[in-house]
Formats: sequence, structure tokens, C-alpha cells
Amino acid sequence: MCLLLLPGDVRVRSQVGFESERRGSHPYLYVDFRGLVLAAPSTESVSPWGCRCCRPLSFQRRLAVSPSLLCPSSRLTLCFLDDDYAGQAKCMLRKVGSWDFDIFLFDRLTNGNSLATLTAHLFNQYGLIELFQLDVIKLYRFLVLIQEDYHSHNPYHNAVHAADVTQAMYCYLQEPQLSSSLTSCDILLGILAAATHDLDHPGVNQSFLIKTNHHLASLYQNTSVLENHHWRSAVGLLRQAGLLEHLPVEDRQNLEMRLGSLILATDISRQNEYLSQFRSHLDQDDLNLQNSAHRHLVLQMALKCADICNPCRPWELSKQWSGKVTEEFFNQGDIEKKHGLEVSPLCDRQLDTVPNIQTGFISYVVEPLFTEWRRFCSTPLSHTMLSHLGLNKAHWREESDPSNGTVHCAQQSCLQTM
Ligand SMILES: [Zn+2]
Repeated sequence: MCLLLLPGDVRVRSQVGFESERRGSHPYLYVDFRGLVLAAPSTESVSPWGCRCCRPLSFQRRLAVSPSLLCPSSRLTLCFLDDDYAGQAKCMLRKVGSWDFDIFLFDRLTNGNSLATLTAHLFNQYGLIELFQLDVIKLYRFLVLIQEDYHSHNPYHNAVHAADVTQAMYCYLQEPQLSSSLTSCDILLGILAAATHDLDHPGVNQSFLIKTNHHLASLYQNTSVLENHHWRSAVGLLRQAGLLEHLPVEDRQNLEMRLGSLILATDISRQNEYLSQFRSHLDQDDLNLQNSAHRHLVLQMALKCADICNPCRPWELSKQWSGKVTEEFFNQGDIEKKHGLEVSPLCDRQLDTVPNIQTGFISYVVEPLFTEWRRFCSTPLSHTMLSHLGLNKAHWREESDPSNGTVHCAQQSCLQTM
């Protein structure tokens, strides 16, 4: 193992199997993303670190929250909660499997610790600590590390999105077909993948990284650039925290590879590949959940659904997510304009609108995926999700401007930009 100290992060990475990544060294990233100077009137109000160069190292960030983290209580979740709000947050966790779970409220009640608190709760609920003989302090460290590795100033790709995806994933894991056939290992991976699937997301998409010759694009040869980075970041943090170091090497490597396979499935530009494979199994009615490869495919599809389930939530929640993801697109467009680059599809705040983007996204990306999911899992939850999806789509259609040339974004734009 080799310890790599980088300006802005501390990572322990094995030199075997994973290439090291330079972080925060790209001029575009350095100038714009960490401070979001274009979008915010004052960078101080948005980013506690101000700029990339003064962002504390990971261990310093960890120390800042360590009083609660060092709590020796075995009741993990309580340690993340502020006393004033602990009761309400605990109350919410009793309904963690509800589809109308308000992750924004939960994040406020946990003082911005929704991801760590929720994930710890699910580990406890499933008994994963005992089953995998996990060290609770290492689990603490890991959960805080992943929460801190998300960029809090990203409007959308931040720890609250990861917490939302983890909550949705839990809902799917609870579906009868899955809960009766998944192994403890499947459940552990499903939760880990959901919590880590967007780690260290820079707030811009892959095409931006490619056209600006970002080092991650060349490292991953322009293929699933972000997803590869999220996976390697997750493995780096797992190793740094030592969460799985007590397991036999083969088991650990197997878990890391399966984690990668799940996270890579969230690459929206490859949605049609996964959807065709899934559809083909449904057409032939040959999915056998006793088969580990089939269970893995179902987990991949579940994670994909969890990742883009925002339009399937009740309107009040869905609307908030739509505003956040659009703001992130527009921030990217602002950076592109500032640097004289061609503005990416859906990223122009002068041309594109939330209703138009959402109408296209729902029609071309979300509906096809959830329609197949309901064929596999014809449960009250699936019907609820598709019911919300229909209502939300109608809302956006009413608000969209048909005279706008970009209405109903093309499928290709949706698959490239998201
Ligand atoms: Zn995501």
C-alpha cells in the first residue's frame, strides 16, 4: 500500500489494480468548480473552503466533525444527530422505507449528515455490522469520508443526492422479489454502491471533461470517465478506512469489482445496453434470482432506477430535484461560455428551461427504464412511482413553452448530458 498525499485530499491507494489519480490539478476545475464563482454572488456563502487550494485535507475535515464521530456508543446513528433534532430524525428513520421520505428535511434534521446517518441506520437495520464483523469505528470513518468526499457546493451531485439514492435503493431492496432472494453480500453492495455512486463528482459531465482534456478523461480513455472515478474513489476510501481489511483478499477484491460493476451501470449514456439486456430477460421470462449473475443484473437495474428516480417522487420533492439538477447544468454552461467553449446541450440558461429539460428527460430516459422495472416488479411501489411520473410529466408539459426550439430535448442530448 502506498500513501498518496495530495493538495485537497488524503488517500490510501493500492498500486495494484488501480491507477492513482491526480486531483484538483486541472485549470478549469481549479478556477471554477470548487468555488462556483459564476453562480454565486459570494463564494464564501457557498463554499466553506473558498477555493480548491485552501480546502482542508480530508483528515482535517474529519477532525472538524470528530467530537461526534468519536462517540463510543454502539448506536451509530445517534452520534450523528444534534440533540434538538434527534427525536424528529429518529422518527423519520422509522419510515425510511416510505416512497415520500423527505430527504431534504432529513438532511436538515441531521445537520447535513443525511448520508452518513441514513447509511449507518441501514447497516444497523440489516445487521451488516455483525454479519460482516465490521469495526464500528472504521465504519464511522468510512461513512464520514464518503460524505465529505461529495462536493457540498454542487447544486445536485452532492451528499444529499447520494442519501436520496440510498433511500430509494433501500425501498427497492425491500421489494418482495428482491428481499426474498438477495444475499447479505448483495445487500451490502447495493447500499455501498448507492452511497458512493457519485463520489467526488465535479459538477460537470463527461463531455465537458473530454473537451477540456481533463486528466480523468485520458486516464479512463473517455469511457465512463465519471463512473470510473466514483468507483476508484469508493475503493480508495474503503481501503483508507480499512473497513473490509479483515476479510480474505479474494473476498475483498471480489466486493470491490462488483461494487465497480454496479457503479459503472449508472453511466446514463449506456442506459440502452442495460435496458436491452434486462428487457430481453423479461421477454423470455428467464430471470432466475437464484442465479448470482441475474441477481447482479437486477441490482444494477435497481441502482439505475434509484439514481434517476427523482421524477417518480411526489411533485413537491421532484420539483426541488429538477431545479437543482438544472442549476448544475446551467453552471456548466456558464463556465463553457466564460472560457469560449461550445455550450453543451441543456446547459444554456438563456435557451433551456426546467420544464423543457424535464419533459425530454422523463420521456426518453426515465419512462423507458421504469416501464421495464414495473414489468419485473409489479408492486404497489412500482405503480406509485409510475403514477407520480405521469403526474409530474403532465405538470412540466403544462409549464413548458412549445414555442421554445429546445422543447422536448432529443434523446441523445439527455443521454449525453445527464
Ligand atoms: Zn447519481
